[in-house]
Amino acid sequence: MTSFLAFAKLCQKVEASSGSLEKIDLVAAFLADLDEAELPVACSFVMGTLFSPSLNLVVGVGPSILYEALARACGCPAGQISDMLRATGDPGLVAAGIVEKRRPLGFAAFLGAEALSLTDVYERFVAIARASGRRSQEIKVKNLQFLFSQAGSLEALYIARLAMEDMRIGVGEGGVRDAVARAFAGNGADVEMVERAYNLTNDMGLVAVNARRGTLSQLSVMINHPIKMMLAQLGESIAAALEEIGTAAIEWKYDGARVQIHKDGDSVRVFSRRLENVTASLPEMVQAAKQITAKSAILDGEAVAIGKDGRPMAFQEILKRFRRKYNIEKLAAQIPLRLFLFDLIYLDGRSLTDLPLRERRALLEKIANPNLLADQVLSDSVQKAEEIYRQALDAGHEGLILKNPSSVYAPGKRGKNWLKIKPVMETLDLVVIGAKWGEGRRASFLGSYRLGCQDQATGKLLDVGWVATGFSDEALAELTDMFRELIVVEKGMEVEIKPTVIFEVAYEEIQKSPNYSSGYALRFPRMVAVRDDKSLEEADSLERVISLYRGQRGRSNSA
Ligand code: AMP
Repeated sequence: MTSFLAFAKLCQKVEASSGSLEKIDLVAAFLADLDEAELPVACSFVMGTLFSPSLNLVVGVGPSILYEALARACGCPAGQISDMLRATGDPGLVAAGIVEKRRPLGFAAFLGAEALSLTDVYERFVAIARASGRRSQEIKVKNLQFLFSQAGSLEALYIARLAMEDMRIGVGEGGVRDAVARAFAGNGADVEMVERAYNLTNDMGLVAVNARRGTLSQLSVMINHPIKMMLAQLGESIAAALEEIGTAAIEWKYDGARVQIHKDGDSVRVFSRRLENVTASLPEMVQAAKQITAKSAILDGEAVAIGKDGRPMAFQEILKRFRRKYNIEKLAAQIPLRLFLFDLIYLDGRSLTDLPLRERRALLEKIANPNLLADQVLSDSVQKAEEIYRQALDAGHEGLILKNPSSVYAPGKRGKNWLKIKPVMETLDLVVIGAKWGEGRRASFLGSYRLGCQDQATGKLLDVGWVATGFSDEALAELTDMFRELIVVEKGMEVEIKPTVIFEVAYEEIQKSPNYSSGYALRFPRMVAVRDDKSLEEADSLERVISLYRGQRGRSNSA
């Protein structure tokens, strides 16, 4: 039986090592020694996830539960704990520090203090995730409290980080994939086989167990296990995309959210793009899937919220539907969803991933009513594709996806067989008016920046959201030095900045937002450049933001 301490020591070594190859070697050596029950647990834990996705469990521990458990286990006031967090920015270090200084255990606790095994910790987390009902918070706290009361400081560090699902040891999916391949190379595994199996099953534990048994090639798509979705690459232009693909399957790029639907007899499960089970929130998708005339199928498509005017509603409205847990029918009446299916991955017990799109589509058309299908036109004509593109934009959708009709379904891949075409938004020049200190590795940097545009009527700067991507570590260090001089007020982790610096910012879309004083927010903002060639007066105005908002994707009528 492997102790949790051995796992924590592995994490400590991995965290301390700088090279990714070294990290992979360490993890591989650890995995190779585990038994079949421990292997899936370690695979999930190193990447900071707790459970196999097929279990459909969510741990549901926030900072307040974590600190309450620590406070109870170690007799330390909760207030002191939040102060420590502010100082370190890392719940793991806080837990380790508190456990280190814990007052001596009572006799009873001493008697119960057996070494935690890796599977003990896993089982406690399962109990935490399964806690439901009125007493669920208390059950979660008690189970975590138990773990902390049995743990030494190194174990506590990683228990806390696991509870927050943020291991901070620099191993992600790719790292575990390589480690599994290395650990079981002697049983015939290699990186490509592991990756293929993972993309098909989305379950690293299952993949690792099969790698250990030498049965990787037997893994295939499974009904009720979400499979990684095939993704589209950005095409340069319609002409360039048609040159690349030749005769293409041309479809609208619907403005909605991706859904993968598993129909298994009368049971239907719906998964989001991030492969979360969202079935309960989307009854229309379940109804639509029930019309499919197949015993079992995995369907791929887009859920679109259609407004009263027949046009797609803003993406954030759809997200409301995906997130809603209560009063679903009421929200469904306000934000009704329609399904557009564009692919078929599995049919009546058989994986279709290796069939060309042309054949998958023909099978899809046999089992789905035309009103559930995404329109598709096969053509190599630029003129025809441009006409369809215009129609898509006029209807308020995002653009086109041009697909290679001979291509297989490549789970998890963003490649040239699906090329998306959409209008490129112009960048905005915005004034930096505030910033936030980062967390963890970035704790000493100002990591995200509040952006403002000018209200020409009043001369005021109105915020349009935050940008936190597009910076290298070096750039952040330089910016932090520059902005340190410009801090006007500090409020906790946030600072107000004297407005002098202009950032050129790219984004995917402008949305209406009650959260910002401008009334608008940028979706997926990304820093392009510091425009020190521009003065404050040259920053973009609210009027420009509004006009870009109106112009985007022919959506001038949608609120
Ligand atoms: P992006 O999110 O920009 O990478 O674009 C890919 C996304 O477009 C997919 O994940 C789908 O959610 C969405 N989409 C809309 N219409 C289609 C379509 N006809 N085929 C494939 N994906 C589509």
